[in-house]
Amino acid sequence: MVDEGRIREAVASILCAIGDDPGRDGLRGTPDRVARMYGELFSGIGEDPTDLLETGFEEEHEGIVVLKDIHFFSICEHHFLPFYGSADIGYVPDGRVVGISKLARALDVLARRPQLQERLTGQLADAIDGAAKPAGVAVVLRAEHLCVAIRGARKPGAVVVTSASRGVLTQRARMDEFNALLEIV
Ligand SMILES: [Zn+2]
Repeated sequence: MVDEGRIREAVASILCAIGDDPGRDGLRGTPDRVARMYGELFSGIGEDPTDLLETGFEEEHEGIVVLKDIHFFSICEHHFLPFYGSADIGYVPDGRVVGISKLARALDVLARRPQLQERLTGQLADAIDGAAKPAGVAVVLRAEHLCVAIRGARKPGAVVVTSASRGVLTQRARMDEFNALLEIV
């Protein structure tokens, strides 16, 4: 849980520091709105996605299971601006399949905290690998970063792509199979 009182004070202080007036009509409710919003955006702090991924079903399945185009939002920890996009997850079960929605929820748990896209990608692959114990897992994230779009380089539309794979999905042939599946669906 975030400390809403401290966030309210801090936001009011930032509003003063940028030369605006936190007492004026349009801004009066802003510190409170931001405090509640941070509660939502950072709800993944201190949460562990392992529990979600440990529950599965015994099932023999030799192929790759792919969940594609899972939208996510996160906050870049360097600039405190959003980055957002979609994730593709593929894994090869080893006698057990994971609830599909659990994969998407695990992504949210890891995304709702100050993050780096590279770390988020690796953490998701590690969480699936460690908790669901598949024969292999691969994760691809594509995201636009507001810190690249609206400041600094100012390149809206630039997409950052990151990937991580573990187990049999580090093998070239299985990786090609995963990429081929991403193209058909
Ligand atoms: Zn950034």
